[in-house]
Amino acid sequence: MVMRQLAGRGIRDTRVLVAMRWAPREWFLPPHLGPEAYSDAPLPIGNGQTISQPYVVALMTERLRPARTDRILEIGTGSGYQAAILAYIASAGKVFTIERLPDLLVESEERFRRLGLTNIETRLGDGAAGWPEEAPFDGIIVGAAAPRVPEPLAAQLAPGGRLIIPIGDLSSQELVILERPADAPGKLVQREAGAVRFVPLISRLAFTEGM
Ligand code: SAH
Repeated sequence: MVMRQLAGRGIRDTRVLVAMRWAPREWFLPPHLGPEAYSDAPLPIGNGQTISQPYVVALMTERLRPARTDRILEIGTGSGYQAAILAYIASAGKVFTIERLPDLLVESEERFRRLGLTNIETRLGDGAAGWPEEAPFDGIIVGAAAPRVPEPLAAQLAPGGRLIIPIGDLSSQELVILERPADAPGKLVQREAGAVRFVPLISRLAFTEGM
């Protein structure tokens, strides 16, 4: 998977490739999907949610540029796979992950324990509000699509930090990267990183006036 689906398609960051070689993706899936764990596709994880295809996880992680000591916020824990990849890379930092569905959160907490990942904190709730008590974050990654960037998330981005989020509706979404430049922390610089397809972020906050 790592060579054909990731390196072969332009993922260059060694930390991302090493982390994805390390993570046992089959542990993040319902048992009957084990044989498909390394296929080039998003897969159902229950509760109507999906785990992203490996390439999209790699692309988002590479664009986030996580450092070893970073504090990272993830919205939409889902299976826990993306959080595990981030926690592996930010081994001397911390990953804060928020999920709105309790069943999914309980399962992913069990996976983190089994993998010995002690630098992940979880929270049940609406991720669009962020995690103000732990802000600011060096990186924020959203695994569900919103019509616009939830304002609390942009506000919780540290100088030099990046926020990565799929923006759009059910039929068409663009991966958006917002950066708060270290030398101009009052500004947010926006770039786009290609078309993606995610499940929707379910939140009243994401639909209020954002950016
Ligand atoms: N990153 C995950 C996949 C995310 S799927 C993985 O690696 O498996 C999107 C997840 O976002 C779903 O689990 C969904 O329940 C969750 N979600 C949707 N809206 C949310 C919100 N407002 N706050 C927190 N989680 C939310």
